[in-house]
Amino acid sequence: MPRKPLIAANWKMYKTPAQAQEFVKNFLPLVARHERDEIVLCPSFTSLSVVIAAVTGSGVAVGAQNMYSAEEGAFTGETSPLMLKAIAATHVILGHSERRQYFGETDETINKKLNTALKHDLVPIVCVGEVLAEREGGKTEEVLLRQTRGVLAGISAGKAAPIVIAYEPVWAIGTGKTATPQIAAEAHKVIRGEVAKLLGAQVADNLRILYGGSVKPDNATSLMNEAEIDGALVGGASLDAQSFAKIVNY
Ligand code: PEP
Repeated sequence: MPRKPLIAANWKMYKTPAQAQEFVKNFLPLVARHERDEIVLCPSFTSLSVVIAAVTGSGVAVGAQNMYSAEEGAFTGETSPLMLKAIAATHVILGHSERRQYFGETDETINKKLNTALKHDLVPIVCVGEVLAEREGGKTEEVLLRQTRGVLAGISAGKAAPIVIAYEPVWAIGTGKTATPQIAAEAHKVIRGEVAKLLGAQVADNLRILYGGSVKPDNATSLMNEAEIDGALVGGASLDAQSFAKIVNY
């Protein structure tokens, strides 16, 4: 079975609830009856409910940009998977490089979150990717293997089906520098090969690996035409309804 591409918008810390609602109003008509790709909007926590209500009946899904690994407890400022489920969020981005860089997330903490997301039937979009110095130092493969093993540690093949991995080279995020489809495909093959070793060929064959890093309307087609690329995680270009719709309709 071919892998259904998934295209997700990561709005980061942008948009008030009113702005998020306005986006959805403008965006939905542009993707009406779009069935080829799974479309996911990931607003900030304060806009989740508004966006979930606004997309009802459209086929567009909504995810969070982060969550904590515990179900409840004295964790001031955190959001639990139960809270996301209660408002009908279906996806969650885990381990985005900005979370790793600014908030100290590690493969180990991301692995805990991944386990919790799977337990609560949230579709996890787990981010991996090398920084510029690692690429320039010839360490890309080593980093991808370490991160893939780390985030998937202890996950069984039977539980792994919902997992989506996003390959996001950090040097391409928000910089306007995009990995070529070939660079992305090489990285995806490293990740898929390691998943095959860890979880078996069937999980690896079915695994969707998204590319993220300065995806724009004018480069979406060439990236998405690469067989190894199963979708996109889009930051800056997802903030505007027209621009994100052009990417979705590549
Ligand atoms: C991202 O935030 O995951 C991302 C890929 O950002 P951008 O598209 O702006 O590079």
